[in-house]
Amino acid sequence: MPATDRSLRVLVVANQKGGVGKTTTAINLGTALAAVGERVLLIDSDPQGNASTGLGVGRAQRRHTLYDVLMGEKPLADAVVRTTVPGLDLTPSDPDLSGVELELGREARRSFKLRDALAPLGASGAYSYVLIDCPPSLNLLTVNAMAAADAVLVPLQCEFFALEGLTQLMRTIDLVRGSLNPGLELQGIVLTMFDRRNSLSGQVEGDVRAHFGDTVYQTVIPRNVRVSEAPSFGKPALVYDLKCAGSQAYLKLAREVVLRERRRRAKQLEAT
Ligand code: ADP
Ligand code: MG
Repeated sequence: MPATDRSLRVLVVANQKGGVGKTTTAINLGTALAAVGERVLLIDSDPQGNASTGLGVGRAQRRHTLYDVLMGEKPLADAVVRTTVPGLDLTPSDPDLSGVELELGREARRSFKLRDALAPLGASGAYSYVLIDCPPSLNLLTVNAMAAADAVLVPLQCEFFALEGLTQLMRTIDLVRGSLNPGLELQGIVLTMFDRRNSLSGQVEGDVRAHFGDTVYQTVIPRNVRVSEAPSFGKPALVYDLKCAGSQAYLKLAREVVLRERRRRAKQLEAT
């Protein structure tokens, strides 16, 4: 089970706001983790399929998708495709995924579909990290992701209403902890699309750090045109332009994420 297996870490990238950098973070953090030797599975849990497209996995290559897995029609292994990044695999999604909420109806284990599907991964040793890219909503897909995860990584866009909605997200994490997944932690908050020339960005950073302290990663992701261009070429920014400031920031973020996971693992081992 992901929550107890110490060699596999399942991280969910969540924020119910759209356009804050969830998919960009999932793709580029996934690529950066793979670049430092981790074996990564990125699960695209947004019916829009932006993570799939952004990794160059077109509709024709999405023979089986997360939808088939959550509906119990295929094992996860059948819905995994290689990406062009060595060490980074993908479970793609397509618009069918938006039907899951209705189709699972009142089924008893409806919130544990992803967790059940991921269960064999721990023992297989095929991956060291699973990253789940969430839709911009606190719906059944996000709840499934949180129920399956060890920790949540929250991208926060440096804009005026950044903190708005965060309370609701934290409440959802608490709810999931209280009912579905007691071990769920907050991996961290990453500030995205930081604009040095805009004083508002600095102000938002100050507010968020004052509020959330060390939970906020030291690394801040700058607004960078290369990062926004990359998906249209079906490439992570790190492949499209490794040297750009955005790619370098995601490499730094990956180091922080790994460090936090190592510390957590050490603490868990101490406790046993
Ligand atoms: P979400 O998944 O939260 O909806 P996305 O990752 O799709 O957000 O990002 C929303 C938009 O912002 C996309 O067009 C993306 O290319 C752009 N974007 C994300 N991060 C950056 C960045 N660091 N610099 C410039 N553009 C970015
Ligand atoms: Mg997205």
